[in-house]
Amino acid sequence: LKKVLQERLTQSRYEHVLRVAETAKAMAVRYDISVVKAEQAALFHDIAKCMSQTVLRDILEREQEDPRLLNFHHELWHGPVGAVIAQKEFNIADPDIVHAIRYHTTGRAEMSDLEKLIYVADMIEPGRDFPGVETLRELANENLNAAMGACIYQSVKYLVNKKVSVYPDSIDCYNAYID
Ligand code: FE
Ligand code: FE
Repeated sequence: LKKVLQERLTQSRYEHVLRVAETAKAMAVRYDISVVKAEQAALFHDIAKCMSQTVLRDILEREQEDPRLLNFHHELWHGPVGAVIAQKEFNIADPDIVHAIRYHTTGRAEMSDLEKLIYVADMIEPGRDFPGVETLRELANENLNAAMGACIYQSVKYLVNKKVSVYPDSIDCYNAYID
């Protein structure tokens, strides 16, 4: 899988994925989640990240994904497409892994621990550098739900500050985990 990722991703994206995988594994140990699942979901999470917008759009349409996605920022598209690729090309059948890939950019209301872990690990991996990331890293060590709440708050706040639209799953996620 790492070989495939190296072919499909830019070097910097590939390195990000490896850092997310290391972060996810450490968190999995901390929260008693399957380390194997955490690593697999982390390695797959950005597999569609470097595909062109045209290809991503074609796959979303072919797979009859939520048509609303096309009206939101294309940055969101690689999550669902990555989930499709993991299932169809790599025969990943575990729904928890598939959901962790699918929802890693938007979050959603009822996330499993693995989904939260991947969402948070993606945001706090050691290469991330934004104001407040240290607080998120500390929270990620203490309480997974609190970390999820803080991370979705950070994401929604970022989008609102940029005055761009927020995909409904992210709003649902915010409402579910903010308190
Ligand atoms: Fe991503
Ligand atoms: Fe990522």
